[in-house]
Amino acid sequence: MSIRISQIDKTYGATRALEPIDLDIRDGELIGLLGPSGSGKTTLLRIVAGLEQADGGTIHFGEREVTQVHVRERRIGFVFQHYALFRHMSVFENVAFGLRALPRRQRPSNSDIRTRVMQLLEMVRLSAFAERFPAQLSGGQQQRVALARALALKPDVLLLDEPFGALDAKVRQELRRWLRHLHEELGFTSLFVTHDQEEALELSDRVVVMSNGRVEQIATPDTLYREPANRFVFEFLGEVNRLEGDVANGRLTCGNASVSVPGVEPGRRELLLRPHEVHLAEHAIPAAHLPITVAAIVPVGAEVRLELEADWLEEPWLASVSHAEFERLGITRGRRLFALPSRLHGFDAAGAQNVALPVG
Ligand code: ADP
Ligand code: MG
Repeated sequence: MSIRISQIDKTYGATRALEPIDLDIRDGELIGLLGPSGSGKTTLLRIVAGLEQADGGTIHFGEREVTQVHVRERRIGFVFQHYALFRHMSVFENVAFGLRALPRRQRPSNSDIRTRVMQLLEMVRLSAFAERFPAQLSGGQQQRVALARALALKPDVLLLDEPFGALDAKVRQELRRWLRHLHEELGFTSLFVTHDQEEALELSDRVVVMSNGRVEQIATPDTLYREPANRFVFEFLGEVNRLEGDVANGRLTCGNASVSVPGVEPGRRELLLRPHEVHLAEHAIPAAHLPITVAAIVPVGAEVRLELEADWLEEPWLASVSHAEFERLGITRGRRLFALPSRLHGFDAAGAQNVALPVG
């Protein structure tokens, strides 16, 4: 089911929770709403659900306008962070609840309910736990029951608000795979809220980045990461190194350091880059003369993280390099090398400039 959100806005007292928002979600898409706390994610989700009334704008599910349609008539499934299961009901009865609550004419027979519930429990690999009670399950298992329960009525749209927020990192990772998997298997459209960049980038077909009730960018994870539309998106999506200097004739200079920045407007500029966009070499190249000293070395998993200092830098840069590169360069603390940025990102009133440099 496609979802079309047009000019939806919301104000609570003096708080502008949502500026007019437009968002088109395709049938079967998995969309992540990502933003800091208070950016309006939950408000938007609740309006799509019909749990909250917008001040203006319209919502369509497919061709059908649902702006005034009651939550019960929207064919939606929910999973919330603290949408606790019914504690006095077995896992089976929790999942069956929505089916049993249907008006008699729509309600499946007991044996059909049984089949459907066991199918759902099979899907979330909890068949063996059907007779247990929520308190006898781990947090991750409880959220899997919540997922099964949300899917029992075959919703066209699944809405999730920080569904894995209360769980530890390893379980979150596992549940992400579950959600991905169920989404592909069942083909519903889903909209999920998170403030976790990694979660949004890993799960979503497209991510909607929000701040202060506004949409900052809507893009695939790859585009968001490579071509952030503005400074907010760039800074929110990962670690940032800063380079400030004077740009003239397509080159930025800062003390004894300089780097080619074709297309960047002359004047005082701040450019940003990610740790993985910092490469290292024994020699400078014509495009980049950025002498640095390795101040700290931290091996983390597949990479080595380096802290780089230089008197032309206000604060140290972080670089993440492969173990192979680390060994090839024979990096030790105190080693003097040259930084070679593969990309530099500038943001100003004119928009985003993402400069690629010829670094091998
Ligand atoms: P998020 O989910 O991104 O953390 P919310 O949508 O919950 O953000 O909140 C957006 C803004 O609206 C916040 O400033 C919040 O304090 C405010 N807000 C949300 N719900 C209410 C409410 N029921 N009454 C008053 N203000 C609210
Ligand atoms: Mg929220």
